[in-house]
Amino acid sequence: MSFGARILEQCDALAAISEDASILTRRYLTAEHRRAATLIAGWMRDAGLAVEIDALGNVVGRRAGARPDAPRIVTGSHFDSVVNAGRYDGIFGILCAIAAAGDLAARGVKLPHAIEIVAFGDEEGVRFGFSMVGSRALAGRFDPALLDRRDAEGTTLRDAIVAFGGDAHAIPALSRAHHHVAAFVEVHIEQGPVLLDRNLALGVVTSIAGSTRIAARVTGLAGHAGTVPMGARRDALTAAAEMTLFVESYTAASRGVLVGTVGKLAVAGGGAINVIPGEVALTIDVRAGRDAERLAAVAAIERECRAIALRRNVALEWANLFELAAAPCDERLQAALAASVAAQGIEPFRLPSGAGHDAMEMAHVAPIGMLFVRCGNGGISHHPDETMTAADANLATHALVHFLAHFDAAAMAATAAQ
Ligand SMILES: [Zn+2]
Repeated sequence: MSFGARILEQCDALAAISEDASILTRRYLTAEHRRAATLIAGWMRDAGLAVEIDALGNVVGRRAGARPDAPRIVTGSHFDSVVNAGRYDGIFGILCAIAAAGDLAARGVKLPHAIEIVAFGDEEGVRFGFSMVGSRALAGRFDPALLDRRDAEGTTLRDAIVAFGGDAHAIPALSRAHHHVAAFVEVHIEQGPVLLDRNLALGVVTSIAGSTRIAARVTGLAGHAGTVPMGARRDALTAAAEMTLFVESYTAASRGVLVGTVGKLAVAGGGAINVIPGEVALTIDVRAGRDAERLAAVAAIERECRAIALRRNVALEWANLFELAAAPCDERLQAALAASVAAQGIEPFRLPSGAGHDAMEMAHVAPIGMLFVRCGNGGISHHPDETMTAADANLATHALVHFLAHFDAAAMAATAAQ
């Protein structure tokens, strides 16, 4: 059986471990997290790795290098899911790495550097409302105040860690900040249609997009839909609609540099068919691979929205909710991954990642690289229709094996230290 076919079987087995029998939902520190961790740990052992489930429920597999002093490569992804998830998001990067390590072991290949495969217990953040618990901790950036956050049932993260058999006091010790990590490399399903549209199985990620999230409120004046003349209205919804269309046209004109979304647009009280909307709340999400371009876009969007508000005689409140810097992928890792993609007979195409990933956090302790694998079905993800072919899964595994075998971790660490 090919690596790809085997990995897809493993994805099916993991997809069956769900909190809800009819859909795939696997949140952090649940009984399903435990069952999935046990399964992954077993596969890691089969691949010859030394395995540990750490204090936060991450599953960590290690393969020693020939030189104990050599810096290590860390790879992996997450095995929690969104509600009603697809079966390859996150999981694939873990299983691909395990297959690659198993192949090196089966062929008796001894590399100078150690390989550490991390299956992160939380990336999506569904249960406690903030994401990347595992990679935050490994990056040495876990804020202890987050331990008091509660899930929908009122359980704190601290209590959930204890119930799982973990140890919140051990979180600082999980940091890889002083562990001499040469690189963090994550393989992930693309979650979009770019590779599919270009007929490419694999792609090299240039940068993980940063994002700005804005909450805006437009306040006009509610009025009778029959009696207020069109020229005298202060309609909050038409103003918000004009702002929404501006977000779309401005980001679309950037030709791939920016993406912008108005994801929520709500008339206060739900609105009524015979009332001019007096108040509308909307959210704006802007992302880009480079921070300067994103910040310039956010400023331009705010300027135009204020001009729209002025012209339409409505008030505009504007609040920046959230700001996340982009995480550029290391040029040397991009080149190395491109060579590994080319070695599979695939044109090494480069693309940004619009979605966030564990690599964003790991970028704080090591240079990062990401390999994307084609997503079928039009690129749909975070959805049960998410697909990947066994052939693509196989190519990704061969590319990762090539990368791990050819990468010069010592040279990478030496230049990083300069
Ligand atoms: Zn993911």
